[in-house]
Amino acid sequence: MSKIVFFCIPAYGHTNPTLNVVRELTARGHQVWYYSYETFREGIEAAGAAFISCDGYGPEQNFTSEDTARVGRDLTFSIQILVDTTLALDAKVCSDMARLKPDCVVADSMAVWGKAAAMKLGIPFVSSTTTFAFNRYSSKIMPQSLWQMLKMILALPKSNHLIRRLRDKGYPVRNVLDILQNDASIHTIVYTSPEFQPCTETFSDKYTFVGPSVRPAAEEIRKTRDILIYISMGTVVNDLLPFYRNCITAFSDMECQVILSVGRLVPPEVLGKLPEHISVYQSVDQIAVLEKADIFLSHCGMNSVSESLYFGVPLVMYPQTAEQQGVAERVSQLEAGLKLKKADAAAISEAVHQIFSDPKYKQNAGRIAESFRKCPGAKGAADKILQVCRTEGRAVSS
Ligand code: UDP
Repeated sequence: MSKIVFFCIPAYGHTNPTLNVVRELTARGHQVWYYSYETFREGIEAAGAAFISCDGYGPEQNFTSEDTARVGRDLTFSIQILVDTTLALDAKVCSDMARLKPDCVVADSMAVWGKAAAMKLGIPFVSSTTTFAFNRYSSKIMPQSLWQMLKMILALPKSNHLIRRLRDKGYPVRNVLDILQNDASIHTIVYTSPEFQPCTETFSDKYTFVGPSVRPAAEEIRKTRDILIYISMGTVVNDLLPFYRNCITAFSDMECQVILSVGRLVPPEVLGKLPEHISVYQSVDQIAVLEKADIFLSHCGMNSVSESLYFGVPLVMYPQTAEQQGVAERVSQLEAGLKLKKADAAAISEAVHQIFSDPKYKQNAGRIAESFRKCPGAKGAADKILQVCRTEGRAVSS
């Protein structure tokens, strides 16, 4: 039996794909601990892991919605938070690890405190990447190459100060890149297919592309018209009332059914009385909707895009962060969707009609769906982790 410790940031998009892997590991009889936040406890425990709370250790509990939005947009601010959280958790994680003696640490690519602890304590490490795998080549897909921004940050005196604080606590880091990027030697699980990942050929064989982890639908959605349009801007940067209003204007007179998921920050009542074919919710069973949808207007969070393409649903894209811009760019390159030129009603309506009038978008979405279905999934991710435990860890495992 192997002992595995997971670390993740407080975000559904980063946590959900790992839960099937946890389920797979615990079903095979391995022991899993999972560092996360109270909101995610139930799902983590249901997957069979022991939950360890990080609440109260980082600044994110006191975040306003502006701070949350800033994390996605402002790299310097994000790095500061990651370093602060790593240092706040240092004593707890080190003493837990001494007691648990894990064979392997699996950390989300943003949960740098997991990777930093593995580096400091010499524990075999697997990075878990719910976005595209990132290197100097794939980063070019970002609008202002993330690589260039990281280089700029490296040159800032502030970044030296952050690194010094980590080194003073025994973390063997030379620069910010050491904790933020995975070089070719780091075992990495990527939750997409080699076909959807940009520049796949530039990643070493330590990278395993396991495909997106798409949960089964929990309910059935009734399709009331021939065309079902689904709109969601995800769960983080979704306070976008003017955009929702423009969508409603764009589809008010269209012969279609519209399901609009606005998130927790927008009360559906503020949208006023709507035509009978448009329904607004704060949250829906997105998988159930995508099983029936014909088009998805999305912010291009990696999970939403993966789920959409998994069901062969083409996208109209309105990305909000650099990461989402990168995902949208890849979908555009593969011609499985269209980026909005403007966010007004006319542009929304035009993009939707363009997708429906050219079959290539649906065909290309279908091709990516096939590539996802060929991937080894959570089983492949669990195999990879156990292989690292066997070859680099302390346990004799199966
Ligand atoms: N989601 C959902 N119902 C909704 C809106 C979103 O179930 O009404 C789920 C969606 O299926 C996806 C996740 O929330 O798995 C959003 O993740 P993504 O990476 O797309 O965006 P984020 O919310 O992290 O920006």
